[in-house]
Amino acid sequence: MPKSGIAGRLESVDFHAIGVSSDAKDNPFRITQQQLDQAAEILKLDPAIHELLRWPLREIHVALPVKMDDGSIKVFQGFRVQYNDARGPTKGGIRFHPDETVDTVRALAAWMTWKCALVDIPLGGGKGGVICDPRQMSQGELERLSRAYVRQIGHNIGLVKDVPAPDVNTNAQIMAWMVDEYAFMHGYNEFGVITGKPLALGGSVGREDATGRGVSLTVREAAKILNLDLNGARMVVQGFGNVGSWAAILLQELGCKLVGVGDASGAWVNPEGIDARALKDYVKKNNGLAKGYAGLGNEIPAESLLETPCEVLVPAALENQITEKNAARIKPRILAEGANGPTTPDADPILFANGVYVIPDFLCNAGGVTVSYFEMVQNAYNFYWDLDTIHERLEQKMVAAFHSVHEMAQRYKVHNRLAAYLVAVNRVAEAMHVRGWA
Ligand code: GLU
Repeated sequence: MPKSGIAGRLESVDFHAIGVSSDAKDNPFRITQQQLDQAAEILKLDPAIHELLRWPLREIHVALPVKMDDGSIKVFQGFRVQYNDARGPTKGGIRFHPDETVDTVRALAAWMTWKCALVDIPLGGGKGGVICDPRQMSQGELERLSRAYVRQIGHNIGLVKDVPAPDVNTNAQIMAWMVDEYAFMHGYNEFGVITGKPLALGGSVGREDATGRGVSLTVREAAKILNLDLNGARMVVQGFGNVGSWAAILLQELGCKLVGVGDASGAWVNPEGIDARALKDYVKKNNGLAKGYAGLGNEIPAESLLETPCEVLVPAALENQITEKNAARIKPRILAEGANGPTTPDADPILFANGVYVIPDFLCNAGGVTVSYFEMVQNAYNFYWDLDTIHERLEQKMVAAFHSVHEMAQRYKVHNRLAAYLVAVNRVAEAMHVRGWA
């Protein structure tokens, strides 16, 4: 007896047949599929397009032999997932993390697909990851790992194929090594193969703070809608890497006061306010939020940070931080998701019921990939823009994306995450349809 509804229509691909890393309900790949299913139902998506969108189009699994400083060879596992390229070459960062799995990479690659569609840039979605702990590795080991990764995937990436970028624990220096290795492999420089590069190697001005700037622009737009005065508004930031630190600095420039901050080394609150810029300088020198920074205030248990009363909360660390367990105690006016996937599907209705205005991840943090796209365009023309041009074009993209989501949420009376899916999935589906994929 065939099953009815989505489950019935979509039983041709077995979840386990593609080698999932876990059955747990917080497996991010399962989460992205559920989120897509909800949107597909509302959009009455063609079943074949829906099914195709539930799975990565292509993925590469690699083993990377790396000579360590002690002379031994260590083999690292890595992935590159090219989720969907209907709208253009796949695009997305590379993470170095000890807890990376193929499913986190699949989920992140799906989210990149929605992100690029939402800000309406002509790119698909992809993501890469290597299971490693960069904090335990020397610069030399990291360089050899980065080059080994490109040697394995270097024939499957390129300006018109798939374009990596920085993400968790990767940065401009790592991108430079990768571009260099790619140039050796192919015999020519193709700077547009990777974005987030140093300025000396075809990077774009304004790329470093682009994700944080996008976060601050979407918070600014949300505050207008909510009639919330950002001047003196309390903000809490979880994660103080590239995204969290720049979001804090730029929101501070809009008047917000940083009253709580945390990273892997701990969490602190200070009602007097913490100077985000000084803290960023400190973190750069000391490799993390160490207790030594004067002005951090009182240390609190890491799990209480997100529950600290505030108007603007920016989770900018990893996925699955806001769940059905803590969501009822998390009540900012605006939840600006700087990280990818910080909120689980069970938490969304709780936040919605409590009147929290959620700026969903693939809208909130889309500034980075938007300027990455600008970087690709500049590389292709070999002609570089000034900072004002970047800021102006980024603002146009972020504001337009924000309002397309807000209007969709009003129209369908759904929360912003589902609204963001409705906008993005519709655009990807349209490209697939005109290509004749389904
Ligand atoms: N890693 C960033 C993200 O998750 C940027 C990706 C890119 O620039 O391609 O959006």
